[in-house]
Amino acid sequence: MLSGKTAVVTGASKGIGRAIAVALGEHGAHVVVNYNGSEQAAKETVQAITEKGGSAEAMKFNVADYTETSEAITEIIQKHGKLDILVNNAGITKDGLMMRMSEEDFDAVINTNLKGAFTTCKAVSRQMMKQRSGKVINISSVSGVLGNAGQANYASAKAGLIGLTKSMARELASRGVTVNAVAPGFIETDMTKVLSEQVKEAAVKQIPLGSFGKPEDVAELVLFLASDKAKYITGQVICVDGGMAM
Ligand code: NAP
Repeated sequence: MLSGKTAVVTGASKGIGRAIAVALGEHGAHVVVNYNGSEQAAKETVQAITEKGGSAEAMKFNVADYTETSEAITEIIQKHGKLDILVNNAGITKDGLMMRMSEEDFDAVINTNLKGAFTTCKAVSRQMMKQRSGKVINISSVSGVLGNAGQANYASAKAGLIGLTKSMARELASRGVTVNAVAPGFIETDMTKVLSEQVKEAAVKQIPLGSFGKPEDVAELVLFLASDKAKYITGQVICVDGGMAM
């Protein structure tokens, strides 16, 4: 389905990013597995792909660092001569009520979750326009669609990512590049593992399908959006959330 394609997945050392990287790799894409802190976990993602007969490499860069990330994307394009798929998945949370949220915690989440995606999107734009093809998928969140108490920083970044997605989709549509956002609800990963039992129970009550999702539930949609089967879809926000944001 994706043979001959080159893909970059940011934050692919674990969780949703790993599941996306494995799905793309399993379906024939060469995957650049980005990580920032978790080198061993990134190697395990690469191994999971190669064990399934795919091709992958790990690459460290901090998406919150504009220069480092721009240079990394340029290096990937030079090495492979093209870039077909970009998945902006790297993300962090620093939750707290707005009244008590520090400037540092607001900036850190915006810099990683929103500015990081701006940086990679900007860095791939020229190449994808030249190719007259490309698929960009940004991992937003239902928090960005609905807002969420305790996540003013995170919801702002994820809502911003939707604006970035739609703007880029409009700018690059005439060159055959599609740009979409995927908005997961509660998915079982390290990010949600830290939530208290009380918060998890309250969360499940808000999910019509009655349970948290799995990283693979998100990866299946990303795989579809990255394929030519989705060639007539751009500028959309698609929720994978058990019905939370209907
Ligand atoms: P996770 O298990 O905590 O994994 C986060 C990933 O992001 C890790 O691979 C981490 O890599 C990477 N990362 C963090 N900061 C980075 C940076 N500055 N540069 C490069 N990579 C960085 O989280 P997850 O649950 O899989 O979340 C993945 C995405 O889905 C995030 O954007 C998150 O906001 C979104 N999402 C998650 C949920 C959920 O319920 N889990 C719901 C909605 C949206 P290192 O460890 O190597 O630094």
